[in-house]
Amino acid sequence: MTSLHLRGTVLPEGEVRDVWVVGDRLTFARPAGGADTVVDGGYLLPGLVDAHAHLGHDPATMAFDPALFTEAALAYAAAGTTLLRVPGHRSPIPAGLRADRRLPRLVTAGEWLAWSGLHDLDGPQSTPGDLTAAAVAQARANDGWCKTYGDWEPFTPAVPAGVLRELCAAVHAAGGRVAAHCQTAEGTRNAVLAGVDSIEHAWYLTDDLLAVLAERGGAVTPTWSGFLPHVAGVRTKPEGPRKDWFLGGVESLRTATVAAHEAGVTVLAGTDSLAFGDVVTEIEHLVSAGLPPAAAVGAASWDARRYLGFPGLTEGAPADLVAVADDPRRFPGVLRHPSLVLLSGTSANPGYR
Ligand SMILES: [Zn+2]
Repeated sequence: MTSLHLRGTVLPEGEVRDVWVVGDRLTFARPAGGADTVVDGGYLLPGLVDAHAHLGHDPATMAFDPALFTEAALAYAAAGTTLLRVPGHRSPIPAGLRADRRLPRLVTAGEWLAWSGLHDLDGPQSTPGDLTAAAVAQARANDGWCKTYGDWEPFTPAVPAGVLRELCAAVHAAGGRVAAHCQTAEGTRNAVLAGVDSIEHAWYLTDDLLAVLAERGGAVTPTWSGFLPHVAGVRTKPEGPRKDWFLGGVESLRTATVAAHEAGVTVLAGTDSLAFGDVVTEIEHLVSAGLPPAAAVGAASWDARRYLGFPGLTEGAPADLVAVADDPRRFPGVLRHPSLVLLSGTSANPGYR
């Protein structure tokens, strides 16, 4: 088997290094025998991450469709996204798709599990009689994560703090982590104080809550890609509490995206997409919100991988990487034009060779 050789500035450390790919792994030790030099110059970074994706669902029916899943997953891989967290999925992802080495690695969280007292749920959620037991079961059946809610519709009751506390304690005792949808002041507060690990959408976060989240190594996933397309339309709507809630939430997110980073909370890039999600656009949204570009790229690469338990470009790590001509910490848009994407040591971008 021929090894691959790459030379470039390795991120996030920023040192020029020689890296080899032997089989599906990285090594910094020159292997015996020849190696094809496939990259010489530019920047090498760990494969991109979409930390909030729901690929494989038909947008009309929200039914799982393996063909849609495969199509989206291949598009992700070709664009350099080699790891997906899926916080909410209608049905288990078939083993055959999980094992397909052409597709990004998966961190799934199982079903969308909602407290039965939430109003106006819109279909994909399930409302188990024993929410805590269901959350533990999903964390065990998936990749250590479960997905639940701090709230749903505004102006209706949020999930009580006690319900979330019991759920978090049980999932943590089982070695799992909890991601929760949070878009109201009360739901977000209850979720953070109850012990939720990853705050999804993350509206109405305040500095005191971010301090709590930072203290326990928590994360926020702003999912800007899900909100920004709606902002202009909502601005044209008649004045009212719902409009105030939406625009206030988006504004709070702008502040909290930066404040979270400054407080030491891990910020994750997530597109909330049902099909292919463009993580590079989400990186640009994070930058627009005020995040330093290096942190925004980290949110979609090395920081997200560390938070989800995957290594960066280290000795023996899986050979999942992106090579680009220029420094993405200065020009994130360069990530739209990778010269090479490797997933398990194999080229995933069709433009290469
Ligand atoms: Zn979502």
